[in-house]
Amino acid sequence: MINIVDLSHEILKEFKNPNIAVDMTCGNGFDTLFLSNIANEVYAFDIQDLAIENTSELLKNHHANNVNIIKGSHDLFDKYVKENIDLAIYNLGYLPKGNKAIRTEANIVISSLKKAINKLNENGIIVLVIYLHDMLESNQISDFASRLDSKFDVMRIQVLNKKDSPYIIKINKIKE
Ligand code: SAM
Repeated sequence: MINIVDLSHEILKEFKNPNIAVDMTCGNGFDTLFLSNIANEVYAFDIQDLAIENTSELLKNHHANNVNIIKGSHDLFDKYVKENIDLAIYNLGYLPKGNKAIRTEANIVISSLKKAINKLNENGIIVLVIYLHDMLESNQISDFASRLDSKFDVMRIQVLNKKDSPYIIKINKIKE
């Protein structure tokens, strides 16, 4: 069976030799660790202490020292990331086995996405991993992404023969 997170990583690997990559929801740090292996420098954001601790621990155990871990909301990421970016991932929802009340919110994600899209280099890729337990978030973000202009290729990737399967939105900047 396809693992949606592994698939999101395969998509991000399409960009060769990324310089700056951003994990907008670092959680337990698995996406951050993946990015640290392919990019020169990584920024990782989360709003909760447990996520910051778990990500720091995972990175330390893997001797990953090219990551800036920031406790803060992803709609403010541009306060810390001054460079343009090649890659970003938003793995939405709540921390697995964590507090389900601390979760991503569509309006905050969209506010962050608007900034990320402006800072995305040519050929840069943003992926969002979206779960269907929050239909409002899913619908609002899909609606926003589907209205992006022709400088971007926007795809939705989903397993169709499995009920309520999570899906990926891939945003690829195809021209400046
Ligand atoms: N990428 C993670 C991993 O590899 O383990 C999984 C992320 S988890 C599904 C979603 C995370 O989003 C939670 O840790 C939650 O605290 C975080 N989050 C929620 N709202 C946020 C926000 N506004 N800015 C940054 N992180 C946020």
